[in-house]
Amino acid sequence: MSDAATRLHAIRSAVAEAAKVSRREASGVTIVAVSKNRSAAEIEELLQAGQRHFGENRVQEAQTKWPALRARYPDVVLHMVGQLQSNKADDAAALFDVIHSLDRPSLGTALAKAGWSGPTYVQVNIGEEEQKGGVTIAYLPTFLADTREAGLAIAGLMAIPPSEMEPSPYFALLAKLARRHDVSGLSMGMSGDFRSAVMLGATVVRIGTAFFED
Ligand SMILES: *Cc1c(COP(=O)(O)O)cnc(C)c1O
Repeated sequence: MSDAATRLHAIRSAVAEAAKVSRREASGVTIVAVSKNRSAAEIEELLQAGQRHFGENRVQEAQTKWPALRARYPDVVLHMVGQLQSNKADDAAALFDVIHSLDRPSLGTALAKAGWSGPTYVQVNIGEEEQKGGVTIAYLPTFLADTREAGLAIAGLMAIPPSEMEPSPYFALLAKLARRHDVSGLSMGMSGDFRSAVMLGATVVRIGTAFFED
């Protein structure tokens, strides 16, 4: 097996094990390989190993890498996981299949205007950190209502816990918010913490480093 195939196998096994602990099916967890800053050659190894969901955090970088890869792997599903500027909404709508980072009304308006109708995750600033993107917990109910009214398809909630903290309580809180607001998807968990995210209900994990480095 290639290194990429070995890593993919290990990540799938770890997700399956964590899903089992929480008595869920592994098929209920989508594994997104976050390929920001990775070359087309590195990405292609994973494609050859069978990985199909990929995440990028910058529109421009994704535009340089993905059209050519997509031509050869048409069943790729491309996820936007980074902060999105409203003036890039058109480009993002054209390129991506899923957006994980809806974090303000102006972006929702820009996406709706761009004709975006794909699955959209609302990013929550789960640790109430000043420097981090995402809507506040207090504003979430209003934001969800407005976003639904604007016609965007809310797939779920997304969050990145504060980096120096134990992530599990934040995952549990995001899951609670999703239940409270009748939202089914939970995009949470990265290389260092995806197991606990899955145990706490993640339906999407966004894994970068563990896919590309030993
Ligand atoms: C880079 C990134 C990831 C992946 O992080 P790793 O720790 O490398 O797994 C996940 N989510 C977002 C939003 C990212 O920007």
